[in-house]
Parts: sequence; structure tokens; C-alpha cells
Amino acid sequence: MFDIIVVGGNIAGASATINAAKAGVNVALIEKNREPIFPPRCGEATEEITAEILNLDKIGCLKNRIKQIKINVSGKKEYNFKIKKHGIFIIDRNSVEKYLLKNAEQNGAELFIGRRVINFNPPNEIVLDNKTTLKGKIIIDATGISCQIGKKIRNDIELKPSDVGVCIQSRVEGIFNSDIMKMWYGKPYAPFGYSWLFPKNEKLANIGIGVPGGQKLDLSNLLEKYIKDETKGKFKVLNTFRSCVPASKPLEPLTTDNIIFVGDAARFANPIFENGINNAVFSGSVAGTIAAKFIKGDLSKLTIYEELMKNKVKRLNKAYYYKNRLTTEKKYFNSYRRFFSLIYSLNKLFPNILQNQYVKIVKNDKKILDSIQEIKTKG
Ligand SMILES: Cc1cc2nc3c(=O)[nH]c(=O)nc-3n(C[C@H](O)[C@H](O)[C@H](O)COP(=O)(O)OP(=O)(O)OC[C@H]3O[C@@H](n4cnc5c(N)ncnc54)[C@H](O)[C@@H]3O)c2cc1C
Repeated sequence: MFDIIVVGGNIAGASATINAAKAGVNVALIEKNREPIFPPRCGEATEEITAEILNLDKIGCLKNRIKQIKINVSGKKEYNFKIKKHGIFIIDRNSVEKYLLKNAEQNGAELFIGRRVINFNPPNEIVLDNKTTLKGKIIIDATGISCQIGKKIRNDIELKPSDVGVCIQSRVEGIFNSDIMKMWYGKPYAPFGYSWLFPKNEKLANIGIGVPGGQKLDLSNLLEKYIKDETKGKFKVLNTFRSCVPASKPLEPLTTDNIIFVGDAARFANPIFENGINNAVFSGSVAGTIAAKFIKGDLSKLTIYEELMKNKVKRLNKAYYYKNRLTTEKKYFNSYRRFFSLIYSLNKLFPNILQNQYVKIVKNDKKILDSIQEIKTKG
């Protein structure tokens, strides 16, 4: 019997595994893909402070520093935000996840890579695609939007179409300004959603579209048009994938008996911007640490995880409320124009106001993480 089994080995699952294994308990991680997150089902944009937490310098992960964000609302209004401090990076998820998995193994976790979980018999038994079973005292569901373990034991996992960001993204060769990341809200490319161009360097970019589900759209065609327009027709698509991201309220409660939900499985991506890297790292790290401390008898209940996530959940619920207000059909263009005009004006008065706020949140996350790591282990 393992102390902890983590299902899903991307950024949330790997973070959970590292933190649990470091705390000295017996952990297994199961990941269905042999090669982590390739092609990257992600635009790969994250903030400098998250890159620091992930130790990207230490692992030599290639990252591109963004100096300017260009936001276009339906071709009618454009806003330029200069980033003076707290940079944004376009990172390389494949090398990050590879490093995290290696780190988990080096800390003593047993990895089952290329193995899919096909069933869960509560409370402890995980069934793999080769029909072997593993038992775990605590199970961490880090399976992303599909929330594979949650699906077997809860009836609040299915998302309504409008709460799913349906995405398509290509890795594109072309000529790009590597200082500028671009986002285009609404028509013609992304009705009620947004399209993005995140440059990895001057010759390579992640270009994608994400729209709320439930619309009949030919995403391939829309993406092709967006790529053509952005590159003036001079491009080569290296790979393309489709994927989804939760744009819903966070899961509540975040634990069910001996099961903890993290990352996209807990619906921790931001419903407005659909960024989820930081919350995946944070929730995974907290869950792994709490689960290990619980096993060692340092904590009396797993629901301490809920308490530590309370502020995050509150903020995500607020973001969900605003997302719904912004995407109402008739108001779409005006609401987004007002939203970005407000940010633009505030940014003029108080440069980097949004990012300062964001950095404050992540610093607070880090404080929570440091404080739980210090909980004394019983001799
Ligand atoms: C197109 C797109 C662009 C995005 N761009 C950004 C961005 O630029 N910045 C940002 O911050 N966020 C972005 N996001 C969101 C971000 O990618 C996610 O929030 C983040 O990856 C969540 O990490 P996770 O580990 O929780 O889940 P995932 O990354 O989804 O990982 C889940 C893992 O579980 C595994 N798994 C699933 N089922 C099983 C099973 N049965 N058995 C074993 N393993 C299983 C999967 O193979 C996968 O490796 C984007 C999302 C999409 C779809």
C-alpha cells in the first residue's frame, strides 16, 4: 500500500509528488503519456515569480521575456501595456515537466509513466490499463480537466459547455517580435473568447484560439486565418493540437474523504484569462505537503487543504462572476473594451498595477507553502 498515489504527472501532479516525497512518505505517480506535455497543450505564458518558484534558471529552461502586451478588442480598439517590472515569460513546459518528474523520482517517488488509470474502486484501489492494481491511503487527482478520479465518486464534475475553454494551438515558425505577446479578443478569430500569439523567440511562437464551448465554429479555419494575418502568410506550422481548459468555478469541496483535487482537476485555472500554471503548481505543492503531514500524524485532517485554499477559491469565484458578466452576448465588445480601458487607465496612473497585484498573491501563496513545510514532524 502506498501512502499517497498521485494520478496525473503534469505540473500539478509532479509538484504534489515532489513535495510529498520530500516529506518522506511513500508516493506513486501515474501518468498516461510517455513524453510529458508534448506538443505543449499550453500557451506557456507565466509570470517571472512563478518561474522563480519553479527554479527555471536552475534547470536551464529556455524562456523568453516579454516586454509588451498588445491587446486588441474585435479589431476596433488596441491597448499596449509596457511591462516595466515583474516580467512575463514564455517558458518550455516539456523541459519543466521533465525536470519535475526527474526531481520526484530523485526524491524517492515511484513513477508509472506511460500507464493509464482506467478505474478507481474507493477508497484505495487504482486500476491501471495493464490490469494491475495499486492501493493508496490518499489519492491526489491531478488529471486535469477530465478529473478522472472525481468522475467516479462525485456528481459535480461535468462542466457546462460555456464553462469550458475549447482551444486549438499551433507551434509556428515565422518571423516574430519576441518582445511582444499579443491577445485578440472576440471576432473575427475568437467569438466570445480570445486568440493569442506568444513568441518563444524571433522564429517560433505558440499561436492559438480559445472560445467558450457550445458554439459551432470551425476552429481550424479560424486559427489558419489568424496565423496567416499575423505572419502575413509567411509561416510553417510544426504541430497543432486541440485541448480544453476549465473556465468554471473552482471545485467545492476540494477533498472527498481520502481524495484531494489539484490543478485543473480542481478547476483552478482563471476563468477570465484561462491561465492555470501558477495555481497548478501551488495547489499541487500544498496538497502533496498536507497529505504527507497527515500520513505522518502531524496534521489531524486533510481538510486543512481546503482552509489554505480558501482565499484562492474566493478569488476564482469572483473571477467567474466577472467572466459571466463580460461574455454576455449583446455586451461582449463593450464590456471588454470597458474592462481593458479601465486597466489601461489604471496602469497609466499606477504602472503594472495588475502585475503588482498578481505578484502579491503569488508571494502570499509562497508564504503559505513555506509555513506548512515548517510544521514539525513528530519524532
Ligand atoms: C491551449 C491552452 C493554452 C493554455 N495556455 C496557458 C498559458 O499560457 N499560461 C497558463 O498559465 N496556463 C495556460 N493554460 C492552462 C494550463 O495549461 C493548465 O491550467 C495547466 O496545465 C494545469 O495543469 P494540471 O497539471 O492541473 O493539468 P494537465 O496539464 O491537464 O495535466 C493532467 C495530466 O494528467 C494525465 N492524465 C489524465 N488522465 C489520466 C489517466 N486516466 N491516467 C493517468 N494520467 C492521466 C494527463 O496525461 C496529463 O499529463 C492553457 C491551457 C490550454 C488548453
